[in-house]
Amino acid sequence: MDEKSVKNTSEKNKQLNNNVQVYDQVNCQKDLATHRTLCAYQKSMTTDTMLAADSKVARSSFGPQVKDKVVIEVKDLVKTYYGQAGETRVLKGINFTVHEGEFVSIMGPSGSGKSTLMHILGVLDTPTSGLYRLDGIDIKDYSEDELAAVRGRKIGFVFQAFNLLAQKTVLENVMLPGIYGKIPMRQRQDKARELVGLVRLDNRCDHLACQLSGGQQQRVAIARSLMMDPAIVLADEPTGNLPTDQTDEVLSFFTKLNREHGKTIVIITHEPAVASYSDRTIVLRDGVITKDGPANKDIHYDTN
Ligand code: ADP
Repeated sequence: MDEKSVKNTSEKNKQLNNNVQVYDQVNCQKDLATHRTLCAYQKSMTTDTMLAADSKVARSSFGPQVKDKVVIEVKDLVKTYYGQAGETRVLKGINFTVHEGEFVSIMGPSGSGKSTLMHILGVLDTPTSGLYRLDGIDIKDYSEDELAAVRGRKIGFVFQAFNLLAQKTVLENVMLPGIYGKIPMRQRQDKARELVGLVRLDNRCDHLACQLSGGQQQRVAIARSLMMDPAIVLADEPTGNLPTDQTDEVLSFFTKLNREHGKTIVIITHEPAVASYSDRTIVLRDGVITKDGPANKDIHYDTN
């Protein structure tokens, strides 16, 4: 390339970057199609530059703290159950990635395959075929025991039914993953106190879990999920057992974790109002992804 074309290319790339920055600021919630139209004007752009720009906009559209690092990579994922009634193909070739700092909801009607996908993402089950890489680790390279360790270190779980030890205190519940993770006693106590503070339950540290409201119990579960500094927090219908006012409160804590602490969050839900707290929604229907894009923020819980 001669000096003039180098200069032209660099000018065009500069222009593209400016366009992307303007796009980021103004249109961060619009979908990628608009951006592709914008890019089409940059006729001499290389494919790499275009893909890099797309990826940058895709990430910035999906939350303010989204980083380059990929924490979930799912490629051609298939899950088939084999039973007496024959084969049931539940996941039929799923593809997506989640970057560090994203807040993603996975939605779909009952029977669409959400729980099956959640079990695979949570390393509680393995796919029949396809790739699942969690925080850079290809799970098929690991034995059952190793997978249990990966699960404990890399994933913080929040379940619909809270799954707390009812007769243990708030602090003891939050410390529990630290015991399995062999964090020294003093360190896990300090960390548990910090996490209990994060979900604003400092004044309930010594209460038994069974003495708390549903919303408070789920906040304890959120604190517990963070004990091992996981790569992702995976929440399965986290507000399914809560009244509406407590639902809003609990979901606000997920937002806080994501916005203020840069945590990567994946929520499985069948409720559009829950998904509206996330930045990106992946819709699953009959085992395939039918939509993957910015979350609809216009649906809200009626808290009156
Ligand atoms: P969702 O969580 O979206 O309701 P699931 O992942 O639980 O969906 O289930 C998706 C489909 O897979 C359903 O039709 C269900 O009957 C079927 N399924 C789930 N688990 C099994 C299993 N262990 N054996 C056979 N079929 C199953």
